[in-house]
Amino acid sequence: MDDFQPPLRLRLDGAALQSNWRWLARQSGAAACGAAVKADGYGLGARDVMQRLAQAGCRDFYVSTWAEADALMPLAKGLSLSVFHGVRDDDMAYAVGSPARPVLNSLDQVRRWLAHCPDRPCDIMVDTGMNRLGLALDDIGDKAIDRLTINTLMSHLACADEDSTMNARQRDRFAATAAQFAGARASLANSAGICLGDEYAFALTRPGLALYGGIPRREAVGNITPVAYPETQILQLRSLTAGETVGYGATFTAPTAMTVGIVNAGYADGLYCSLGPSMTLSYRGDHCAIVGRVSMDLIAIELPDDAREGDWVGIDFDLAVLAQNSPMSQYELLTGLGQRWDRVWF
Ligand SMILES: *Cc1c(COP(=O)(O)O)cnc(C)c1O
Repeated sequence: MDDFQPPLRLRLDGAALQSNWRWLARQSGAAACGAAVKADGYGLGARDVMQRLAQAGCRDFYVSTWAEADALMPLAKGLSLSVFHGVRDDDMAYAVGSPARPVLNSLDQVRRWLAHCPDRPCDIMVDTGMNRLGLALDDIGDKAIDRLTINTLMSHLACADEDSTMNARQRDRFAATAAQFAGARASLANSAGICLGDEYAFALTRPGLALYGGIPRREAVGNITPVAYPETQILQLRSLTAGETVGYGATFTAPTAMTVGIVNAGYADGLYCSLGPSMTLSYRGDHCAIVGRVSMDLIAIELPDDAREGDWVGIDFDLAVLAQNSPMSQYELLTGLGQRWDRVWF
């Protein structure tokens, strides 16, 4: 891959990533602020994200699977890495030799961990109402739990991005549970949870989306800045005469003579057709409209007559605006970007 200069690149602002983490860390008050780097750092590149956040002072990192943990090895001294999805039988052989900790989600996982490495530290997730992963509150009294060496006790908020009464309900349940685990660090808040205020921060927060420039709640507006700037290269220019059509289905007909550029990105790169008219591109600072259908690897755009092949075109990637105006969430927009972008940090 190093031998190629891909015709599509994701310019990534390392200073913005660090400043987003610093804001989230400040909002976390006395709590430590970690970072969710699952799904390859929400599509930006987990290893590069981790290195930059560690430099800013972040110590606690989270992935979903052991394969994701393995991709971040060797772990730098002083860093902590947890695997949200716990341990299956199939993970155990790897997990016993890994410096990463599982987040145990069920009594089966608890017993499996105790059977293989009774003295190794782990994290546990308790379910306080989301009914996704996590031990039921009733399971907490099980004797097996007492035998664990628990580093972090977690739960996850279902509705933190909304002003829901469920937030306070989950927080209160979690506070009551955390009181029974005095030796463990308590961690509840994701990005949106941090925005809910101090009483959600406990000992440790776990933001993801907002690190990468996503706006989880209105409180983040003006404080969280974009990190990812996708750009694509013009592969070919065409001069159309009035009446000619463009692309699959011939859905666009040139109303007058015009110049069209074919750029190297498409729905396989996360620029989904469902973004529709809310997706725009920019060339030399001016917006240019998409003409015709988005293809798998190509998009046709209207360009000025003096545009040149090989020039770069920006994809307007305001996550909050795009999510507002399309069926895609900010999470889907980031994690959908795919592997073909050349990720270039500046
Ligand atoms: C993904 C995830 C996070 C981070 O959530 P964001 O909404 O991206 O801030 C935190 N905790 C758990 C358990 C997660 O799965």
